[in-house]
Amino acid sequence: MRVGLERGLLDGFERALINNRLSMVYQPKVRLSDGKLVRVEALVRWEDSRYGSVPPSRFVPLAERHGLIDPLTQWGLRTTLRQWLAWCGEGLDTCLAFNISALSLQHLDFPDLVERMCRALEVPADRLVLELTEGATQPLIKLMDTLTRFRIKGIGLAIDDFGTGYSSLMQLRQLPFTEVKIDRFFVADAPESRDSRVIVKAMIDLAHGLGLTVTAEGVETAEQLRLLRDLGCDVVQGYLVAAPLEPERLAPWSAALPER
Ligand code: C2E
Ligand code: CA
Ligand code: CA
Ligand code: CA
Repeated sequence: MRVGLERGLLDGFERALINNRLSMVYQPKVRLSDGKLVRVEALVRWEDSRYGSVPPSRFVPLAERHGLIDPLTQWGLRTTLRQWLAWCGEGLDTCLAFNISALSLQHLDFPDLVERMCRALEVPADRLVLELTEGATQPLIKLMDTLTRFRIKGIGLAIDDFGTGYSSLMQLRQLPFTEVKIDRFFVADAPESRDSRVIVKAMIDLAHGLGLTVTAEGVETAEQLRLLRDLGCDVVQGYLVAAPLEPERLAPWSAALPER
């Protein structure tokens, strides 16, 4: 039964990928010091006639298991970079964040491919940030060579969901990251739990000590925002600021931000 469902989902996903029926939405991230839009994170969406809205937490691992992660990554990057180019033309001035599966980093020539895609579209590679989550099977340290190649090209690297899974302090020191994203679990807990606040503060101070930018994800309440500001967090992202938006809604949204 499970196998049958996985097969059906997989076929549906492959068709959606081939027929260009996936889409990307974009979530703003704003700097706490001045409320400016500084980054936009691209997130993939799949709306299926049979399965309805399937979350990426469901189909990204499926794509990883069945050899479809590279085509998904390339489709997503192409779509996102084109959208970014259009925004640059409209005067929207922002860095772009894109989620990469650790599996795609196993190819040593992947950084060259990304650089070529940026060059072809004339979008600034040094304003691209790749967000990585450590998979259960592949410690990021094994991907050091690929990560270093990205950094040489000026492409930023963020460690996503920091504080969960296998991400560790050692990795932060050894790997060439430029940004840390504090997992929303800690953000959600911070107002009620003194322990969570202590951990968030320690993560922020540690990241700053290493010269990294700190983004907090999943910010949903004004109280969380206040706390994060008091603790010295740089950038926030979450429903309180904005949900992931369809591309045509981002520019009007950003135009409505208070001038400071
Ligand atoms: P992530 O990179 O940690 O992305 C953040 C997730 O939190 C997104 O879920 C986003 O919609 C959601 N979110 C944003 N603000 C809030 C908030 O205030 N509260 C709560 N509760 N949630 C919030 P989404 O889009 O379902 O993505 C889930 C995960 O799937 C992502 O986690 C990322 O790991 C992966 N993913 C998404 N798009 C891509 C992609 O294009 N490629 C790859 N490889 N992975 C992707
Ligand atoms: Ca992310
Ligand atoms: Ca995350
Ligand atoms: Ca996540």
